[in-house]
Amino acid sequence: MNKTVFLTDYAWPDDSVEREVIEGAGFRLVTGPSDPLPATGIEDLVREHRPHAIMTCWAQVSGEAIAAAPDLRIVARLGVGLDNISVSTATSRNIVVTNVPDYCVEEVSDHAVGFALAWTRGLVHFDREVRAGRWAPASAKLRRLSELTVGIIGFGRIARATARKLAAFQCELLAHDPYVMKSEAGIEFTSLDDLLARSDIAVVHSPLTDSTHRLINRDRLGKMKPGGLLINVSRGGIVDTEAVVEALQSGHLSAAALDVLESEPTVPGELLEQPGALISPHVAFSSDASLIELRRRAAEEVVRVLRGEAPRNPCNPIAR
Ligand code: NAD
Repeated sequence: MNKTVFLTDYAWPDDSVEREVIEGAGFRLVTGPSDPLPATGIEDLVREHRPHAIMTCWAQVSGEAIAAAPDLRIVARLGVGLDNISVSTATSRNIVVTNVPDYCVEEVSDHAVGFALAWTRGLVHFDREVRAGRWAPASAKLRRLSELTVGIIGFGRIARATARKLAAFQCELLAHDPYVMKSEAGIEFTSLDDLLARSDIAVVHSPLTDSTHRLINRDRLGKMKPGGLLINVSRGGIVDTEAVVEALQSGHLSAAALDVLESEPTVPGELLEQPGALISPHVAFSSDASLIELRRRAAEEVVRVLRGEAPRNPCNPIAR
């Protein structure tokens, strides 16, 4: 019998790229609905199809789902973060977990820089004003990016690209990362509190883990330089949205540019009411080029593992 690959969900119009790679290698592809089912729905589909491989975009692949597939060999994330996969269960059952770590480094870093420029140049603000019938250049309170300090929280792949791009704007760069060697030309590594106190713009680029869950909470927002911008292009769970709304309401924060929300896809009404909130619907990773690369590379990992070859981007230690 053909080995079965289960694609739990997808954030693009169809499953054609995945199908071409999986079926082209002689395997069978079963696809769930494009919008992710709840964890229990995924568990039911896994029980029904008993897949040899699971590919997931946003759907939760729980420990129960993994345990319900006796022949499972790989869980492949169509993305970077692994917070929707029970990696510990996969590891304990010798199932490899893969991601595609670098397919959208340029896109996410562009998004962060884009948010910074949208704020310094008032791009979103003035677009809203003009559409509302107000042509008021004298109201402009814009900023010179080259004279600002930008603090980057988490200094991995995407953060390095953001720093490289921001360096061209000649702003002062700070970084905080407990796991990164503290030497990088033009970047001052410092504590999180010092970074927040000195940065006009703070950018979250760390992953969502137990230690970063609500890392940016009421207390930390209070430590931010007054009138600053918070950018989160990483994971919603790192930032306490209610605390952001309060900081915007009080004027302590000038703006919050959020590609990700704890509550996504639900956007709290109080956040929408804030003129300082710039929100995009978790699309920082997306471009025509990045999506094709992501889908093809994730499916190719599945094919490799089902053929008994080593994956290129294993994320957990398993005995082979
Ligand atoms: P990476 O693993 O290369 O870098 C993450 C960095 O965060 C690492 O250097 C790590 O040491 C650091 N870190 C870990 N815990 C930290 C903490 N407590 N405080 C500060 N830093 C900490 O990952 P990456 O490729 O740069 O991606 C970063 C994150 O971006 C991913 O985990 C993912 O959640 C998110 N992401 C979002 C989108 C999007 O569309 N919005 C797309 C891709 C990735």
